[in-house]
Parts: sequence; structure tokens; C-alpha cells
Amino acid sequence: MAAEKILVIEDEEPIRELLKLTLESAGYSSIDMAANGEDGLRLVQSRLPDLILLDLMLPGMDGLSVCRQLKSQEETRAIPVIMLTARSEETDIIIGLELGAVDYITKPFSRKILIARIRAQLRQFTDVEDSNEIRRDGLLIRDDQHEVRLHGKVMDLTFSEFAILQLLVSHPGRVYTRNQIISKVKGDGYPVTERAIDVQILNLRRKLGDWAANIDTVRGIGYRYKSDAQ
Ligand code: CA
Repeated sequence: MAAEKILVIEDEEPIRELLKLTLESAGYSSIDMAANGEDGLRLVQSRLPDLILLDLMLPGMDGLSVCRQLKSQEETRAIPVIMLTARSEETDIIIGLELGAVDYITKPFSRKILIARIRAQLRQFTDVEDSNEIRRDGLLIRDDQHEVRLHGKVMDLTFSEFAILQLLVSHPGRVYTRNQIISKVKGDGYPVTERAIDVQILNLRRKLGDWAANIDTVRGIGYRYKSDAQ
């Protein structure tokens, strides 16, 4: 039985019930539910959930405003938020990710994907690792030496390629928009086009060979490093 507390903020009752059943069947027993953003924020304060599933289209306060509020407060900033959206809300998805949401799921959702995405986010807090070293699937990133080894062999990466790879791989399952990649890698306001990021990812993939299958293009949105669960 999973001990993590999950908060669902969703106005449509049938979807709320379906989410609850899906979470329960996956072993999550501590689930809070809110039908609007205001109630959701109140529950966040009183219950401090480990993860929030947040519908974007809510009556009254919308999901993006809820997300903005969560990310603006010290106590709630670190809680991972997964957005629930319609496929057509691409602009909102990008805004949400840039506000600090870690992922999104489009409705109608697959139960399997929903649970895999939730597990990927919750696992990040239990994965204790040396902050100087990340090991995943035969890839080793050494921050202090600025070195990447793939199956033991040192890779020849540019500064930006290293930074992009490190950013993605340190946050399994998290979707990054191109803008976020630019500001994390180069600093805010750096004059790099989104297309330049695509080119760097392309070069990175070429150098990574088969391992590149671990880096997903999230169509129209950005990129993610997929964890084993996905
Ligand atoms: Ca809704």
C-alpha cells in the first residue's frame, strides 16, 4: 500500500470518481478530492499532499491560477503538479509547465499511463543519489568533472549538450518546454531560438545512438527523459 497523499482537483464528478478508483486500484489509499481550485488550495494547506492532479479547466479559479499560487508559496512549491488537460489546450500546457508543473496528461487518459506518470514523479523523492553523479541505463553523468560516459566510454559533448542532457536526465518523467531548456541551460533572456534547442537535441541524439530512445519528443511541447516506468 502506497503511503503517499494525492490530491485530485477536478470539477467533473465522473472523472473525479474514475481518478479515485484508478488511484485506489494502484494502491494509493490516501486521496483527497476537490471540485474547484479554491477548495483544492485549502486542502493543500491542511493536508500537504505529496502530489497534485490538477484539472486546468475549472469553474471560478482556473487550474493555471491554482498552479501559480502553489508555486509562489514556500511550503507548497516543491509538490509535484501533474496537469489534466484536453488535447487542444497546448498553449495552457506550455504555460503550466513553465509555471512549474512537472507533467500533463490529456483526457481521456489511459489508467496505465496515469499511474506510471504519478509513480515517476513520486519516485524522485525516494531516489537518493549522490548529487555529483547520476547513473541511468548505462549512462553516467559526473557533474564535478563535467563528464558523461555511455557504457563506460567518455562522450564528446559540447557545453550545451552536456547541460541539456543533465537537465533532462536528472528529472525522469518531467516534461521541459524549449523555453525552459533555454533558460536552465543558458540563463533567462539568452538569445537562443527554440529551433536551436531542437538542433542541439538532434546532435545529442546522434551522439547517444541507441540510448537516445530514452529521450522523448513531446510533440508541440518539448522534451522529456523517460524513466523505466514509461
Ligand atoms: Ca474541468
